[in-house]
Amino acid sequence: MSTSVLRSCYRCGYFAETAEAVCPRCERGLHTATATRIRGALLAVLGAILTFFMVYLVSWALAAFRATDPTGARFTGDEQQKLVILGLFGLLIAFGLMSFAIGMYQVVVGRRSKGFVRAIVTIAGLIGLGGAYVIWSF
Ligand SMILES: [Zn+2]
Repeated sequence: MSTSVLRSCYRCGYFAETAEAVCPRCERGLHTATATRIRGALLAVLGAILTFFMVYLVSWALAAFRATDPTGARFTGDEQQKLVILGLFGLLIAFGLMSFAIGMYQVVVGRRSKGFVRAIVTIAGLIGLGGAYVIWSF
């Protein structure tokens, strides 16, 4: 028998101290606040790494666009392709920051925010569209 701890349902948002393993409202599996916090911490770390990596890539891309990159990398695409690439990098930075924010929120409150998850799914969709355009246009 499991002990009574804070548990939440990622589907309907049910959040209470209970020993149940299944959500009483929608019958999905419940997640303990501790498990949600650990996942949140991992997400925050990954989000921070992605953000730093993308900021580095953006500065590298801007140098390549100006053809002043010390490694000699040079961008030969047109202006529209530059904008799409920078937009895509911007979205990836937003994705990284959002992952960090969602992770920190989970660490603090011990449950998941549906609004946050919806926002990051939207950003991921835009990244997919931008990526498809880049692959298609080069
Ligand atoms: Zn539920």
